[in-house]
Amino acid sequence: MEGVEKLWANSGDSHIVEPTDLFSKLPDHIRECMPRTVKDPSGAFETIHVDGQEWVRDLPQVDPNAPRKPRLNARPDGTTDDDFIERWFRGNTPAQRVADLDDEGVWAEVIYPGLGIWAFNIRTPEVARLGCRVMNEHMAEFQSHSPRFVCCASIPMVDVSDAVAEVRRTSADGFLIGFLPTKPPLTMPEYNDATWDPLWAAFAETGMRIGFHIGTEPVPANQRIGVYIRGRGAAVLNYVETTYGGQRAASQLITSGALNRHPELKVLVSEGGATWGPFLADRMDEGYRQHGAAVEPRLSKLPSEYLYEQVYASFQHDRSAVAANWAMGWRNVMWGSDYPHFEGTFGHTQKTLHELFDDTDPVTSHRVRIGAFQELFPTVPPPPS
Ligand code: MN
Repeated sequence: MEGVEKLWANSGDSHIVEPTDLFSKLPDHIRECMPRTVKDPSGAFETIHVDGQEWVRDLPQVDPNAPRKPRLNARPDGTTDDDFIERWFRGNTPAQRVADLDDEGVWAEVIYPGLGIWAFNIRTPEVARLGCRVMNEHMAEFQSHSPRFVCCASIPMVDVSDAVAEVRRTSADGFLIGFLPTKPPLTMPEYNDATWDPLWAAFAETGMRIGFHIGTEPVPANQRIGVYIRGRGAAVLNYVETTYGGQRAASQLITSGALNRHPELKVLVSEGGATWGPFLADRMDEGYRQHGAAVEPRLSKLPSEYLYEQVYASFQHDRSAVAANWAMGWRNVMWGSDYPHFEGTFGHTQKTLHELFDDTDPVTSHRVRIGAFQELFPTVPPPPS
């Protein structure tokens, strides 16, 4: 990309990989319940252990036509698994992470947990409470190193009063966003239930944003994570399935009246593309009008207006996502790198940004790369102009 202007972008979707000794200071009975993964020597899958349950998850393979085992070691860009793992953990060292961001042209990032993203499968309130506390202490320390790191607080979701307390505690500790799974733990009701009202009130009160990351629906123990369907087309079908949860969560917050009661409450759906926003807005408006007699609660505005104003979405590569802004009028579309994950743009961010934005008008380009993120996090300094 030499000689080509560097395009800066904020990322609405990045991750950290927790240090392996993160949970070591917890008492034994809690530590044993915290998420941990054991990778199969073949590299084809890993087993995830959380709170006495286990799940198997297939690991991404590089070439869909390559044999499943052993794992292919070379990538199309010439890097290897070893390079990748080295890079993966580089992101844990603040100075090295900033150097990576500078290389890639990524300015500030919403940083979700890595392993901690599985914490919503915890069933025991004490484990969730103490486990999230340790993860958040680590994230607080990490984000103190750079105003470009916007780390997500992990919220203990098996007890609503614990969840509320952790939102308040982490907000006071400087967090700007809390990560929630796209579906509550299996022991809890859906997000449209009144059980969750105190949590939405706590987010609104503190000004903390809600970050839903796709693919985070709890899975009953012993099921294969990410496998919704088998057989023909399964790899693509299962990838597509992971995107629906974020849409469902956003629509539940809208139709149940949470965004109506709290106009200051803002929600980010990360990694699920963005063109779904205008589509879902139309569908909800249609339901709201056509089934008007049965609609409860009544809202002050049409459902689409909440979505257009209070819901944001991040995407990595989707060309149609940029058009959701200029052609469909959803201003809250933002880009995301998914650093350092496989599905992300790490190593080719500038190429991706130029492909997405070189033919896009400057106002849309700025809004999607920078402006939407800044609106969500106004205290984060802007990128170099
Ligand atoms: Mn992600």
